[in-house]
Amino acid sequence: MIYLDNNATTPLDPQVLEAMTPYLTDEFGNAASVDHPLGWAAAEAVDKARRQIAAIIGADAKTIIFTSGATESDNLAIKGAAEMYKDKGNHIITVATEHKAVLDTCKYLEGTGYEVTYLPVDEFGRVSAEQVAEAIGDRTILITIMAANNETGTIHPICDIGQVAKDRGVLFHCDGAQAVGRIPVDVEAMGIDLLSISGHKMYGPKGVGCLYVRGRSPRVRLTCQIHGGGHERGMRSGTLNVPGIVGMGAAAELAAKELPEESQRIRDLRDRLVAGVTAKLDCVKLNGHPTQRLPNTAYLSFAGAEGEATISAMGDVAASTGSACTTAAHTRSHVLGAMGVPEDLVQGSIRLSLGRFNTKEEIDHAIERIIFSVTAMRKVSGFDQKGGLTISSQAPGETR
Ligand SMILES: *Cc1c(COP(=O)(O)O)cnc(C)c1O
Repeated sequence: MIYLDNNATTPLDPQVLEAMTPYLTDEFGNAASVDHPLGWAAAEAVDKARRQIAAIIGADAKTIIFTSGATESDNLAIKGAAEMYKDKGNHIITVATEHKAVLDTCKYLEGTGYEVTYLPVDEFGRVSAEQVAEAIGDRTILITIMAANNETGTIHPICDIGQVAKDRGVLFHCDGAQAVGRIPVDVEAMGIDLLSISGHKMYGPKGVGCLYVRGRSPRVRLTCQIHGGGHERGMRSGTLNVPGIVGMGAAAELAAKELPEESQRIRDLRDRLVAGVTAKLDCVKLNGHPTQRLPNTAYLSFAGAEGEATISAMGDVAASTGSACTTAAHTRSHVLGAMGVPEDLVQGSIRLSLGRFNTKEEIDHAIERIIFSVTAMRKVSGFDQKGGLTISSQAPGETR
């Protein structure tokens, strides 16, 4: 299988597995056991992972709260801040194209008396810091905006949004599940107060993630969402997933080390893929921002070729019609909808997200498969490539 669905999940890096293995076998201690060496070894391993993860986002190790993944981190950040600061206000600002873990959490809070503003995006899926500034009112307690979108790869102006949040004294939560490990993220430079990270989006294991919680200026406090033994500074109880955490730490260190070279390598492969496909196929639209976009993502709409059927016909190439969660729910992409992409193009959308283990040979093979598949589907639907519809695969000003 040629795996081009790395925004859904990434394979475990063998070096990560190697780091985890002792903690799945001999070193099975509970990191909260303070009375014997097995517990100490586990606690030490967790502390190391905390430092490894904190280092890649420019944070202090003490600010990392381990969770079961970015979904839980989003829930803890948003519900935890909303409840903690409810005396200050009840207004939350987010964006229409957020991940369901953020949108559904906001919807839940709306049902309990909070007010939520869902900012619209431009045709590239981007929100501006000015839009955020205008939406802030006296009762605003939280801004929650993702760093990079999981479907389009579009990167929001996080630095500017963080500055607005700081100027106006509003907390800023950022879902960094797609961004951390793929593009530089720095909580100080970007003014981020809360940052959600997932292990399995950066070649670590599934079922582990973390939330960065700013420790000073300001010190952010959260109402815990899972009660119990008071682990993780009381913010998230439950015995720590030591092997998972060790894996996530190793994955973070590896990602940081490889990021500069790897992001360029993946960008080149991604651009080769798009160029190869659009050289042979007309009426293809590239969704997302032309330049402010994750280096690994190309979300293409093929007019006249239904997405799911096209992917089925691709055989050994694994891609996706949208995010894994919207695919499971069999609903059309809310992200493309918010960007104003016409329904017939939304129907023909395929997200190609590359990763660490993709090779040039794989990409060349994928190009052939995609061209074959789209052409076949267009034949079935009777779509005429030379018909009136012409859609640029490049936004004005884009250079490859
Ligand atoms: C994958 C993803 C999540 C969910 O992360 P899990 O660790 O799978 O819970 C949240 N937000 C974004 C943007 C994602 O891409």
